[in-house]
Amino acid sequence: MKALMLHGPGQPFSLETVDDPKPSPGEAVAKVIACGAGLTVQHVKAGRTTVPFPRILGHEIAAEIVETNGDCGSLKAGMPVTAYFYLTCGHCKWCLINRQTLCKNFGGYIGRACDGGYAEYIKLPAKNFVPIPETLNIYENAAEIGVICDAIATPYKVLRRGRIAPLERVAVFGAGGGLGIQMLKMARWANCHVTAVDVDKSKFAACLEHGADICVDATTNDAHEALLDASGGGFDAVIDFVSSTKSLEMAADSLGTGGRLLTLGGGGGSKADFKLNAMTLLNKEIEVMGSRYCSYQEVLESLQLVGEQADKGLMPLVTRTSGFDGLEDIHNDLEHSRITGRAALVL
Ligand SMILES: [Zn+2]
Repeated sequence: MKALMLHGPGQPFSLETVDDPKPSPGEAVAKVIACGAGLTVQHVKAGRTTVPFPRILGHEIAAEIVETNGDCGSLKAGMPVTAYFYLTCGHCKWCLINRQTLCKNFGGYIGRACDGGYAEYIKLPAKNFVPIPETLNIYENAAEIGVICDAIATPYKVLRRGRIAPLERVAVFGAGGGLGIQMLKMARWANCHVTAVDVDKSKFAACLEHGADICVDATTNDAHEALLDASGGGFDAVIDFVSSTKSLEMAADSLGTGGRLLTLGGGGGSKADFKLNAMTLLNKEIEVMGSRYCSYQEVLESLQLVGEQADKGLMPLVTRTSGFDGLEDIHNDLEHSRITGRAALVL
């Protein structure tokens, strides 16, 4: 098969012909139709996340099962699937209560610990393939459907984890980025008042188009006042996709009474510390929480949601696609934050 190999951090992709993957018992192989290209993947390419090389990157797939081996549950050849990003044990306490991202025996990520979707075929443990419902057609919207497993499922989990309710005032920091835009869509779908916060004003038109009521430029001196104005004195929830010291402190300062701050950890292993006043935490009963990807069930529900509510504009925004030959350019643009929403490899 053809595959885009990465031989080391910071290197260009190399299009090579390699052996087709063969499934071991409990594994399946799928033919890749599309694979999302997001910042999570770019962090590996740029060397901010280390992986064993050579490696085939990519995890947000729309694919069709072509081969199974042994017990693969309900998977059958011909079935359209996407993938669950985390390699988990399936039997520890956290896996059993559907919080697989906390798995005690975590085995790494697809496209890092094992080869991913920047190839004609992908081999995974059968339990990592997620069946795509009939309401979605991967042969028409492969790129968009491929990225649902992250772009919609991650914000979907944030809504639940942050107990975000209709009419609440919600701010999204890093709103113009690959996940930020989708978070705006989901917050709008949840009937919230949505404020988009970003450092790049050129992304505000897209933010407004995809769910934001107001945009705030985080680089201006009066950003704090603008955030208080936008929220009528403080947000019920702030979702921070940037998660730098500066963004987290700005986010915390803009919370209202009963406010919840959700950090998605930022890019490339950001190790930002931030300060929060204990009396503010107490008096307003502020909650600070991390939100890590999502459960397998939340991927299933996200697919169902987009499929059943196609008229609600929940289909992920994919603004760039290419074959193998254009993916280097896409990753270059991802590195320089030049892509609004998502990009994808389409085969
Ligand atoms: Zn586990």
